[in-house]
Amino acid sequence: MINFLSDYPHLTNKYKKLVGISSTVPIEVIYSGGFVALDLNNIFISSPSPLELLKKSTEFAPRAVCSWTRGVLAAAVFLKLKNAVIVTEGDCAHTIPITDILSYRDINVFSFEYPLNHDLKRLKNEIDRFIEYYKTDICSCEKIKEEFDRCRAVLKKIDELTYRELKVSGFENHLNLVSASDFNCDPVLFYKNAREFLDEAEKRPSKSVSLRIGHAGIPPIFSDYYNYISSLGSEVIFNETQRQFSMIDGIGRDLYGAYHNYTYPYSFQNRLKDIKKAISERELDCLIHYVQSFCFHQIEDRMLKNELGDFPLLTIEGDYPAPLNENDRLKIESFISSVERKKYKLKSKKINLLNRKNHAVGIDLGSRSVKIAYYGRYEQKFEIFETMDFIIKYLSGENKKKSFDKFQADILKLSGADNISKIEYFSTGYGRYRASVFDAAPFSEIECHAAGAIYSTGLKNFTLLDVGGQDIKVIEIKNGSIKGFSMNDKCAAGSGRYIENMARILKADLGEISKHYREPEPLSITCATFGETELIAKLIAGVDIKKIMAGVNYTVYARIEPLLNEHRSLSGALVVTSGITHNTAFLEFLKSESGFKKIVIPKNAQFMGAIGAAVLGVS
Ligand code: SF4
Repeated sequence: MINFLSDYPHLTNKYKKLVGISSTVPIEVIYSGGFVALDLNNIFISSPSPLELLKKSTEFAPRAVCSWTRGVLAAAVFLKLKNAVIVTEGDCAHTIPITDILSYRDINVFSFEYPLNHDLKRLKNEIDRFIEYYKTDICSCEKIKEEFDRCRAVLKKIDELTYRELKVSGFENHLNLVSASDFNCDPVLFYKNAREFLDEAEKRPSKSVSLRIGHAGIPPIFSDYYNYISSLGSEVIFNETQRQFSMIDGIGRDLYGAYHNYTYPYSFQNRLKDIKKAISERELDCLIHYVQSFCFHQIEDRMLKNELGDFPLLTIEGDYPAPLNENDRLKIESFISSVERKKYKLKSKKINLLNRKNHAVGIDLGSRSVKIAYYGRYEQKFEIFETMDFIIKYLSGENKKKSFDKFQADILKLSGADNISKIEYFSTGYGRYRASVFDAAPFSEIECHAAGAIYSTGLKNFTLLDVGGQDIKVIEIKNGSIKGFSMNDKCAAGSGRYIENMARILKADLGEISKHYREPEPLSITCATFGETELIAKLIAGVDIKKIMAGVNYTVYARIEPLLNEHRSLSGALVVTSGITHNTAFLEFLKSESGFKKIVIPKNAQFMGAIGAAVLGVS
């Protein structure tokens, strides 16, 4: 067993008194009973190696259980705690098995229950039962609450400095508030540090931020979430649950009232009220809803979207304690820039990419292919490369100038013109920043695809579907602006990669596969890798290969349909772009099953990102 305690030297001298808590509980009771509360979530996430802890946690919980649950379990077990308080009503659906596992490991567990019906009398009885368990009394608990409220009052000011004066960053706000669930096991030191932080922050100049963002949901598991948002010029100025965990809304209330006022454990409606209040009080421009993989809270995401109507909302899902992946960065960046466009009325002007003095080149540097859209004086030209070929040809050398000259020479060849005054380069796609070698201004992918489709179709209200090599994008355009978008997460199921892999198994080319849509064979595995086994089993069982091919095409459609349902334009128009437009069978399924009134396939449908980069760059 790992010697986990050595990672937390500040806990050594109070080790015997530690009581692990799975979530916010009235810690006043624990302290009043002579113990010290330790938030197991904070221990897990602040561990020098949270991933190592998760690996070890497979001893007691399978991989398909949320990382926070496994982290909490691992923290309690590897710290060899003697006591824990687990919230078994009003918190996670996993807390009953957590209680069982901890008891099995000889940890004394008190199950704390927040009444789901928000009944104050029941909550009072529960807190009294808690008080009795810790052999203390309500008066001592209230005295301790008064002391803790001094810490909370400092946190309240830190929170105000965040949204009123913009002197505290989203990350600092998060860290201060989330730590208040256990005051880092030392409320006196916590007060001193928080006070010093506040004094220092008050002297800072106010920051100017592009967007005032709210973070809804549990604290994100990503290590660089807040810093990434700050790096884009915006700031999180509302941390919903961290603020709730800090109990600053309970300052001055009695113990029962404070924990009754706490929104997180009760019905979603309480959280919703708190979020709506923050939107207006803090003048939020948009909200990012963080959800954890395998967490039941994901169900609430739909309710939040419905309740907030047109208010910009992005859902981000996290799994492991790690930095944001490319996909998540792309979503956040696209979301922020689309909200900025609306806020600052940066609407794309009606433009013409031809007939300009300068020539424009849009480069969509994707994970599987690189698309180039060139706009000269009188004509447009397009070219596509496999990404690896493009990298080897233009991006692998050390000498940037040489790479640029080579690329520029090839663009001149593509243009067919000999006299070009100036070429302007604009980039998008996963590799958009790498294209800085060509002095290309980068634009986010979602925005470019939207801009490309608006430019190419002349439509202003539609749903856009783009199926890339590894990702699927569905974007709703309303009045020429992005209203919302979704992307497939984490895996390539249903994307171009899936069809390519299945074609390889069936020894058929993409053109052949894409013809078949009649009597699709039901396939249950949409995974680009594991789908192989199922296909081979069908072939061995003697299923007609044409039906299997139809099944592959239908599988792609079935994977995409829920994303389309999330972003249905009222106009009933669906614009389809990317290489999927060559898949006749897929288009048949779209026509017969998706319910869209009109399906539009623009010219050069594979080049929407590159066209959009040129549109945004030029406009
Ligand atoms: S993220 Fe969800 S599933 Fe995970 S511990 Fe929290 S409430 Fe439970």
